[in-house]
Amino acid sequence: LVQLYIPLNFMGMLYREIKQALIDIDDMFKIIDRNPEIEDKPHAKPLHISEGVVRFEDVHFSYIPERPILKGVSFEVPAGHTVAIVGPSGAGKSTISRLLFRFYEPASGRILIDGQNIADVQQGTLRKAIGMVPQDTVLFNDTIGYNVQYGRWDAAAEDVREAARLAQIDRFISNLPEGYDTSVGERGLKLSGGEKQRVAIARTILKGPPILVLDEATSALDSFTEKEIQDALDRVSQGRTTLVIAHRLSTIVGADEIIVLDHGSIAERGTHAGLLASGGLYAAMWNRQREADEAREALKRAEEEE
Ligand code: ATP
Repeated sequence: LVQLYIPLNFMGMLYREIKQALIDIDDMFKIIDRNPEIEDKPHAKPLHISEGVVRFEDVHFSYIPERPILKGVSFEVPAGHTVAIVGPSGAGKSTISRLLFRFYEPASGRILIDGQNIADVQQGTLRKAIGMVPQDTVLFNDTIGYNVQYGRWDAAAEDVREAARLAQIDRFISNLPEGYDTSVGERGLKLSGGEKQRVAIARTILKGPPILVLDEATSALDSFTEKEIQDALDRVSQGRTTLVIAHRLSTIVGADEIIVLDHGSIAERGTHAGLLASGGLYAAMWNRQREADEAREALKRAEEEE
């Protein structure tokens, strides 16, 4: 038995190390996501938002020439509507949000906001118009109030509180030992993934951008937190043009359009009901996720009964 145990134990260690290395690579991508080479064109104009329509026209893109990531992606998010991008891991979903922020340029095709090619506008005005709730929110080593206020520096204290209330984080903050003055981040109170995400939502509510990108957390939150966050996200996306990069299909059932990306191309598109009825990739993903959720719930119930 000991002979069997040692190799198994070693394999466990190896697995953990490989997994950690992959996580580190992921972090590295986050850092190098920002591409300093992209500069404003000499006569770039400010982006002028009239309605907030986002349009991708036949966008092709690759990080490295020999590996195409997006292969002719076209879609439109009408003003005030919600479009969700779903698809297997590595399909190119987050790449779409990076291109919208112009962290990278398409190899060909255009990305338009209210008819203006984002390659021709001042980047500062582009990024001001888009609010982002990222997968993983970075908190500054400062007070939690500062972290919410970061959304808009000139916001009055009552607007900060109102944003926190809408993001369902106000009660949590008020119960902290020093309320909004409590230190958070590396050197202060550590917040859970769900709490950090609600801080990000509060920031975005405060910023009040006409266009919103929600990059959903991959990690499963417990169903109560997920519901709270979903309510907060629904509130913030109301009346705004919203692009959701979705990992959990349950959160995008109500989207006006769902785009299924597979290996950099749009494999299917439609509403939740339409896509389920057509029995393709989306329907398969939906069934798989439901089975996984049911298995997780059953496991939890069994653990609770023990
Ligand atoms: P997930 O659901 O796992 O978050 P995704 O669909 O959002 O995946 P993307 O992050 O868009 O996928 O990545 C698409 C592909 O591009 C992946 O194969 C990824 O490894 C690769 N990629 C992402 N960022 C970079 C980068 N900075 N340099 C090179 N390749 C990259």
